[in-house]
Amino acid sequence: MGIDFIYPEFEVIRAESRCIACRVCERQCANEVHRFDPQLGLMLSDESKCVNCQRCVSLCPTRALKIVSSGCRLRENANWSHGTIQELYKQAGSGGVLLSSMGNPKPFPVYWDKILLNASQVTNPSIDPLREPMETRVFLGKKPALAERDAQGRLTCRLEPQLELSMPVMFSAMSYGSISYNAHKSLALAARQLGILYNTGEGGLHEDFYCYGENTIVQVASGRFGVHRAYLDAGAAVEIKMGQGAKPGIGGHLPGAKIVGDVSRTRMIPEGSDAISPAPHHDIYSIEDLRQLVYSLKEATEYKKPVIVKVAAVHNIAAIASGIARSGADIIAIDGFRGGTGAAPTRIRNNVGIPIELALAAVDQRLREEGIRSQVSLVAGGSIRSSADVVKAIALGADACYVATAALLAMGCHLCRTCHTGKCNWGIATQRPDLVERLNPEIGSRRLVNLMTAWQHEIKELMGGMGINSIEALRGNRLMLRGVGLTDKELEILGILHAGE
Ligand code: SF4
Ligand code: SF4
Repeated sequence: MGIDFIYPEFEVIRAESRCIACRVCERQCANEVHRFDPQLGLMLSDESKCVNCQRCVSLCPTRALKIVSSGCRLRENANWSHGTIQELYKQAGSGGVLLSSMGNPKPFPVYWDKILLNASQVTNPSIDPLREPMETRVFLGKKPALAERDAQGRLTCRLEPQLELSMPVMFSAMSYGSISYNAHKSLALAARQLGILYNTGEGGLHEDFYCYGENTIVQVASGRFGVHRAYLDAGAAVEIKMGQGAKPGIGGHLPGAKIVGDVSRTRMIPEGSDAISPAPHHDIYSIEDLRQLVYSLKEATEYKKPVIVKVAAVHNIAAIASGIARSGADIIAIDGFRGGTGAAPTRIRNNVGIPIELALAAVDQRLREEGIRSQVSLVAGGSIRSSADVVKAIALGADACYVATAALLAMGCHLCRTCHTGKCNWGIATQRPDLVERLNPEIGSRRLVNLMTAWQHEIKELMGGMGINSIEALRGNRLMLRGVGLTDKELEILGILHAGE
C-alpha cells in the first residue's frame, strides 16, 4: 500500500444468513467488487472498487446486501476536509487533472429552495385543473413584436419557425457515446409520446433515430462531430453549443475507449480516437461570427427550423444573451453551474459558472429592458429537479426547461457519479454491450413518460392554485414568487420580493 492509501469509502455488508451464493451480485457488478471463493464456499468483496451504484443491492434475490458509508475519514479540520486531502493524494500519485461526472456537488445555495410560490385566497379564485381547461403547451421561437392584421382582421405578421411542446420541458443534450444507444432510444421514444423534444448532444444522430426527427434537436458543437446535411435536415431544430453549465469555457472529451462501432460511425471519427471538441468554435470570436453560423444553419435548413444557441451561465450572462438575441438565434438555452455531465475536470465543474436561477432572472430582465425579449425564447437548464422548479423557472422568465439528470434518474441512474469510467451498471453511461442491454428502451421510455406526466399534473395544480391557467400567463410573472432567507442583493437580481412583503 502506498502512502496515499485511503480506506474504502463504502462497505459491503452481506448478511451471511441470507446469502445463498447465487453470484448475481458478481455478475451484475461491472466494477468487480464481488467474487465467489470456491474453497470457502463464500461470496467475498473488494470494497475499494465499490461506487455505491446500488445495482447489486437492487438485484440480490434474498436482500442479503447493503452498501453503507464506511465512515472512515482522514484526519480533517475546517480547512483541510477529507475530500480535499483525498484529491490532493490522487494528484500527487497521478500527476493528472481530476475528472468527475454529474453536477456540482458543493453546497452552494440552491435558489429554487429559497423561492416560494403564491396561491390564491378569497378574492382571486384558484382554478381547479380537474374541471377547467389548463394550457401547458408552449411554442418556442421568435414572436412578432406586434400583432398586425389586414382589413379583414386576419393576422398578417410573419411567424418564424416555432417548436411546439405539450409541456414546458425538454430532455437536454446528452450525446450518443456519453450515454448508450438504449438510453438515447428511451429518450427519443418518450419525447415522441409526450410531444416534446430530446437533444442529440454533440455526438451526431444514429441512423436508427432519424425517424424521431420531429422530436429531436440536433446539436452542432465545436468538434462538429456527426454534422452533415442529412443530420441537420433530420432534426426539428438545430442547437449551437457554445457552452455547458458543468464545464464552462472548455471543450468536451470522450475517451477513445468509448469511440467504438456505431459511436465512431455516428460521430464520423475513427474507432479508438479520442473525441476532443475544442474549447472555442474556431470560427466564432464575436457576435458577428456567431450570427454567420446561425444564418449558415438557417440557410442549410431553408429557414424552416429554429436555431438555438446554448451557453453556460457565467458572470456577464445578461450581456451575452443580449448579443445572442441580436445574432438572429431563435432560442437561447442557458445552462446553470449545477448541470450534469458525463465527464468534466473536477476543478472546472466545482468552481466555474453561476446558478441558473440568478442567470435566468438577469437575462429575462435585460432582454425586457432592451425591448428584445420577444425576439427569443429562453430555455433554462442545469439542476431542474421537479415540477416546482419548472414552475419557478417559468415565473422567473423561462419559456421552457431542459432536464437531463432527472431524466437519467427516471431511466434507473442511481447517481453514483462515475459515468466517466464507462462502467455504468445501469446501462446508461456506457458502451459495453453487456451493460447497455440492461436498459430496456421500452421500460426506460415508459418511466420517462410517467415522470413527465406526473410533472405535467403537478404543474397544472401549482398554476391552478395561483389562479393561472396557462404557461404563457405564468412566464415572467415574478409577482407569483417570494424569497426566504435571501439578501437584498439576491432579491434584487431575482427581481422578487421577500416573503411577507
Ligand atoms: S459498485 Fe454497485 S454493483 Fe458493485 S458492489 Fe458497489 S453497489 Fe454493488
Ligand atoms: S448514469 Fe450510470 S454511471 Fe452515471 S451516475 Fe448514473 S448510474 Fe452512475
